[in-house]
Amino acid sequence: MTLFSKIIAKEIPADIVYEDDDMMAFRDINPVAPVHLLLIPKEPMVNLLHVEECDGIVLGKMMTKAGAIAKAEGLDDFRIVVNNGAGVGQTVFHLHLHILGGRDFSWPPG
Ligand code: 5GP
Repeated sequence: MTLFSKIIAKEIPADIVYEDDDMMAFRDINPVAPVHLLLIPKEPMVNLLHVEECDGIVLGKMMTKAGAIAKAEGLDDFRIVVNNGAGVGQTVFHLHLHILGGRDFSWPPG
C-alpha cells in the first residue's frame, strides 16, 4: 500500500481539489510550480508498465478530466508529467499525473 492509497482512504490528509468514483486530484506537498497537482486513479496501478487494457477506461477519464481540473486552477497552459520508474524520478509507486502550471517551463525537460 502506498501513501496515495492512504490519501484515497482519507487516512492521510491532503488538499483535495477534485474527486469522483475513479480518480482524485490533490495538491503536491512539495510543489515545484505555483500550481502542482497530482491526479491519481483510485484503483492502484504501479506505473505505465503495470497497466492492463481495462485500465484504459479510467486512464482515459483522467486525461479527459485533467484539462478541466487545470482550468479550474486558472490554467490555460499547463504541463502534464508522468515519472515512470525510479530512474526518472518516480518516488511513489501509484501511477499519477503531475499537473504543473503558473510559471514558464523549458523544453526539452530536464
Ligand atoms: P513522483 O516523484 O513519484 O513522480 O511524485 C510523487 C509526488 O508525491 C512528489 O512530487 C511528492 O512531492 C508528492 N508527495 C509525497 N508525499 C506526499 C504527501 O504525503 N502528500 C502529498 N500531497 N504529496 C506527496
